[in-house]
Amino acid sequence: MASSTTADSFDESEYILMVQNKICQCGNIADVRITKSNENNNHGKLYFVCANGRCDFRGWCMPRRIEPKVDQDYNFHRMVIKEMKIMKQKIEWHDKVFIFTLMICVFLFVKYIMG
Ligand SMILES: [Zn+2]
Repeated sequence: MASSTTADSFDESEYILMVQNKICQCGNIADVRITKSNENNNHGKLYFVCANGRCDFRGWCMPRRIEPKVDQDYNFHRMVIKEMKIMKQKIEWHDKVFIFTLMICVFLFVKYIMG
């Protein structure tokens, strides 16, 4: 077991995402999904939906915590955390492109002022 853990070496296979289960209108435990669209800036948020698609149950899901893997039902959570990681990487990539573009603009502006 490695002794140091940084954000870069975060291994999603060793952690689970803990959420409070919700019961949909059919009486089943609702599924947790990840928002894929960027509508209303909700990209990457977790939400509840009817597991069978039979009712209109919906609601935002607030994870309680992320903790080391202890239970059997971790494949789903692992998948969720992996998707969250991918989204985080995508957001960081967008930020880098934005900062790079901003720096070019500043550079051109300074060049214009100086010369
Ligand atoms: Zn339902």
